[in-house]
Amino acid sequence: MSRFDLTGRSAIVTGANTGIGQAIAVALAEAGANILAVGRSPMDETEAQCRPHGKGFLAIHADLATLEPIERIMGSAEERFGRVDILVNNAGIIRRADALDLTEADWDAVMDVNVKSAFFLAQAVGRRMIADGGGGKIVNVASLLSVQGGIRVASYTAAKSGLAGLTRLLANEWAPKGINVNAIAPGYVASNNTAALMADPKRSADILARIPAGRWGEPRDIGGAAVFLASPAADFVHGILLPVDGGWLAR
Ligand code: NAP
Repeated sequence: MSRFDLTGRSAIVTGANTGIGQAIAVALAEAGANILAVGRSPMDETEAQCRPHGKGFLAIHADLATLEPIERIMGSAEERFGRVDILVNNAGIIRRADALDLTEADWDAVMDVNVKSAFFLAQAVGRRMIADGGGGKIVNVASLLSVQGGIRVASYTAAKSGLAGLTRLLANEWAPKGINVNAIAPGYVASNNTAALMADPKRSADILARIPAGRWGEPRDIGGAAVFLASPAADFVHGILLPVDGGWLAR
């Protein structure tokens, strides 16, 4: 059997209705996983793309701006598939403003979804993986701004840098328990998250000029990295930030 095969595994993917999360859900389904698509918007499009792969699919409606849905998500997941083997913390938001103008509301909103909910969902999953001794995989969707400063996105940079740190911390604590915690750092990928950048001709051209691959990423560019980190092929990989960025960080 392929070391990348996910047959029989069940994967929570947050923010799976669109963009990178949708592409990750489809890639995991293609590799054989049952998908628990978690988010605040309808998952019909994602379900339609996962179904042909013949695995289980469950949409769980949840707004991850608070921790309230977390135990409900775990209950639904376990009722349907018995166990969660893979968690992909993908849901995330961005707020753009000069650092001089960023509001407390924009700070809190980004930190709550991008870091707080991601951590406590990982905690809920990790507790169960450790209790049953079965181990598992946690993949956080970080960012180039986990290692770079960015501009006009203070709360996002703080959140994604925090998520990279938490990835390393959880890897240190849980590697001995058979849980692999890693992160992907997508480069510039066309999605709702980057629509404002793409619509700005100067920013868009500046970004493109710096990408050695000579193009923006597509959400499906991120799927393979997620399959790798969720699979037995990554059993000895702990605490990394894997850039999938067309070479941006190599520049
Ligand atoms: P996106 O299309 O905006 O997707 C974000 C996803 O997160 C959507 O499914 C969104 O749901 C969900 N989400 C946001 N707030 C939520 C909440 N309170 N509760 C539940 N779900 C929520 O952008 P994307 O590019 O695919 O982003 C996916 C991840 O990749 C994010 O963590 C982002 O920071 C990261 N990332 C993106 C890029 C890039 O260039 N695009 C680069 C680096 C990292 P709704 O559709 O309902 O809003």
